[in-house]
Amino acid sequence: MTAQLGWPGGAATAARGLGWPPAPTGHPASSVAAAQATPSLLVSRGTSPPRDPIGLERMESQVSRETAEVPRRPTTLPRPPQTRVLVVANQKGGVGKTTTTVNLAAALAQSGQRVLVVDLDPQGNASTALAVEHDEGVPSSYDVLTGRLDFAQVTVECPDVPNVFVVPATIDLAGAEIELVSLVARETRLRKALDRYLDAEATAGRRYDYVLIDCPPSLGLLTVNALAAARELLIPVQCEYYALEGLTQLLRTVESIREHLNPSLRVGAILLTMYDGRTRLAAGVADEVRRHFADAVLEIAIPRSVRISEAPSYGQTVLTYDPGSPGSRSYLEAASELAAQTQEAS
Ligand code: ADP
Ligand code: MG
Repeated sequence: MTAQLGWPGGAATAARGLGWPPAPTGHPASSVAAAQATPSLLVSRGTSPPRDPIGLERMESQVSRETAEVPRRPTTLPRPPQTRVLVVANQKGGVGKTTTTVNLAAALAQSGQRVLVVDLDPQGNASTALAVEHDEGVPSSYDVLTGRLDFAQVTVECPDVPNVFVVPATIDLAGAEIELVSLVARETRLRKALDRYLDAEATAGRRYDYVLIDCPPSLGLLTVNALAAARELLIPVQCEYYALEGLTQLLRTVESIREHLNPSLRVGAILLTMYDGRTRLAAGVADEVRRHFADAVLEIAIPRSVRISEAPSYGQTVLTYDPGSPGSRSYLEAASELAAQTQEAS
């Protein structure tokens, strides 16, 4: 079953390692020197990642920001032939779902794409990072799910990042899981409303290129609605112990959604997050994830970075908060890898 999802092995195999990496093979000291000479953003596939693949140590601790950071200018990426709807899901909390959603959205927008972010987490963290209002009662994803309002009535533009549009989440959404249970077609409400909106926008000459749906840390009805609405699943995996724990359950849910609600859903990408090049653990986990999931894993690993975690407290993405930082560059790289998938597919 899981083979259809594009996973090289069964989910059970995938989960067996559960983040306990094999003993690290060691990292040649020269890899740090190499990273310093050419601060490559790429973690090579299939081999042990170098100790500091993006030169993070050097950039964040040894040399001042001004001299160390050379902005990677966003390049214009080709627009996909049709809107790509991605759900960012992992029922573990704190793995980088929201961070990935908002920063990828900003990176894609800066690369010439029109992007819609749908915040489906009652915490509203994506709404905070994108600086859109999400106090209780503000028109939001809750109103769409419960059928009170359409997407067009709740979508607002992100003030700082042109071409990023946001459906905010408010705390009202916390009750939606229960409220939805008694509603008709409770699993496909988001999909129907989203498809209608996307069609209308395309007809009006405002076609979205990407839709990113940020999920809460559970596999409840909100996440099920997101999985039913999307075509592709993007799974952020934190480079920590137990990184793969829970993925079996996520994949089982995905399989069931494919069977019953959304046959076109597929695993689009796995993104390694919070990669700390100073630890052997991160390298070991990254290695293990790549071994299990092979080409589904994006080559870029998002570094653990203070800038990335600081940005939301200023209502910003790292792309606007610190454009030249390794975190910002890594999300631009992830955006271009995603765009390249479109090219490969077409
Ligand atoms: P989730 O949405 O999966 O619960 P978040 O995106 O909110 O996870 O991330 C959890 C915490 O980790 C947040 O405080 C966030 O700022 C921080 N964080 C996420 N990615 C990074 C990163 N690459 N470097 C440093 N901190 C990060
Ligand atoms: Mg979140």
